[in-house]
Amino acid sequence: MLDARAEQAPLYPLSTGRNWGMGSRSPVVDGCAVLDLSRMNTVRTLDLDDGYAVIEPGVTQRQLAALLEGTPWMLNVTAGCADASIVGNTLERGDGTIRGRTEDLLGVEVVLGTGEVLTTGGLDRRGRRPGRVAGPDLTRVFQQSNLGIVTAAAVSLIPRPEAITLVHATVAIDALDEGTAALVRIGRSRVAEHGMLRLKEIFVVPDRGAAAVPAGADPGTATIQVPLLGSLAAVRDAERGVLAEFRNLGTAASVRVLDTATTAEDDPLYARTRFARGIPTCDALHAGLRVRTCAQADQAPVGWLMFLPTVPLRRESLVAAVDLMRAESERHGTASMLEFNVVSQHSTNMVTQIPFVREPDAIERAHALRTAARDAFSRAGFPVYRSNIDQQHSELTARAADYHDLALGGLKDLFDPDGIIAPGRYLAALR
Ligand SMILES: Cc1cc2nc3c(=O)[nH]c(=O)nc-3n(C[C@H](O)[C@H](O)[C@H](O)COP(=O)(O)OP(=O)(O)OC[C@H]3O[C@@H](n4cnc5c(N)ncnc54)[C@H](O)[C@@H]3O)c2cc1C
Repeated sequence: MLDARAEQAPLYPLSTGRNWGMGSRSPVVDGCAVLDLSRMNTVRTLDLDDGYAVIEPGVTQRQLAALLEGTPWMLNVTAGCADASIVGNTLERGDGTIRGRTEDLLGVEVVLGTGEVLTTGGLDRRGRRPGRVAGPDLTRVFQQSNLGIVTAAAVSLIPRPEAITLVHATVAIDALDEGTAALVRIGRSRVAEHGMLRLKEIFVVPDRGAAAVPAGADPGTATIQVPLLGSLAAVRDAERGVLAEFRNLGTAASVRVLDTATTAEDDPLYARTRFARGIPTCDALHAGLRVRTCAQADQAPVGWLMFLPTVPLRRESLVAAVDLMRAESERHGTASMLEFNVVSQHSTNMVTQIPFVREPDAIERAHALRTAARDAFSRAGFPVYRSNIDQQHSELTARAADYHDLALGGLKDLFDPDGIIAPGRYLAALR
């Protein structure tokens, strides 16, 4: 850090660099040295009494999930790569199968641009975290920012429950309006320990974009999915409530309830039942990208762009967001695949995947679609919650126009006076 400061050479830190769809390993601006932290892969603390781990940036989902096998705790895994980091994904506000990763983040150890080390959230110098100690907690300022380089994070684990089922409903796309209403009711009534409720697999497929869509994608349906965790009695009770909602949709919905402990390996939903049990797998990802290993992802025949706005958990908002994306997808002749992760009883993270075959015309259309979608969603009151290297610049400008965030630049000046950490990433200095 001191060398980088002396030479005024900006650094762009990565945990495992699998930020696919948002820029992968590329810095936001040119001229940065990439600081790859993937070999910092020590699990410094695994506290099986209190249920937390202190991990370095290179610790992967696969690595920590394997250490938790047979213990009373499990990991909140994403549907992304098993060899992706937990730290990088959490710093980007990634979504896991049980909850948003932000909820897992207890504290960080971070090296500031001055070279000073800071720990937050009650994480102590010895890598223990007895709880959140008195005083201000700066943990979240290091998410989606460039104020420091995170060298360790304390993450909370999920108590491994007696039962985990996965409720999976397929809804006719013509009944999406009623489907979203059911989603909102379930989202507002469920108890917090339940896994992430999702409305997903809404495929918008114009003719010109069809080649990039995964085999078997059905534009005539959408799915609603929720893992239920708890004692057997509590899970059965929760199932009854969720199933009652789908019964109201009549023939428009077909529902399965899968016991994740006994789902057969050849079941099409097997990977999802694994995620619900805290076991990462790359199978679905390989099928989507048409690769055999994740190392091939950045050269895959199908590329992906991600567009990630936040949409309120309201029927009108969800339907409006689908309509907006449908209109832009059709206009740009490019497919999009939509998913809404219910991250609270008020809002959803909309994950829009824009797949494209790697041909110049298709690549150009995919980028134009993401730019147009960003503008249309901003105008509709659905700003992004997670950005990408192409659009970071507009995010900074838009935020400055709409929010009182100028003082954040003062933090940048204080923590990174020479501006050597990830320039352009979510935050600008006052200078
Ligand atoms: C098919 C598919 C499925 C996906 N599914 C999911 C999903 O279910 N949930 C989800 O959230 N994402 C998903 N993704 C997106 C993405 O692949 C993951 O978020 C992935 O975990 C990010 O890569 P990473 O963990 O290697 O983070 P990195 O690429 O290492 O980090 C992400 C960014 O955070 C910053 N950063 C990283 N480490 C540090 C550090 N130590 N200090 C400071 N800043 C740092 C960097 O700017 C970096 O660019 C999916 C992608 C695809 C293509």
